Amino acid sequence: MADGTTHIATAYAAPRLAQATQARSSLWARCRCGHVAAIDPTHWIGQGLSRQPVENLEGRLRCVCGARRVRLEVRGLSEAPQGVTGGIYVFR
Ligand SMILES: [Zn+2]
Repeated sequence: MADGTTHIATAYAAPRLAQATQARSSLWARCRCGHVAAIDPTHWIGQGLSRQPVENLEGRLRCVCGARRVRLEVRGLSEAPQGVTGGIYVFR
């Protein structure tokens, strides 16, 4: 990106979408309303977005509460959030 955030993102080693597709990893969305859902990254991988930091994809999610941005996390399968509720969808 040309807005100056790339350097900061790199410094914090922001996870990229490709990391969520590795064995024993999974992609989770967590909305501020409390909804948590597993996200299938296949759609984004198909768009050639595998090298994108996951935070760049947060605006592509929609929650049933109306949120137009949902935080994404790459987690190990054993770290899957408790109390999964769903309700978050890939918008584009
Ligand atoms: Zn929500």
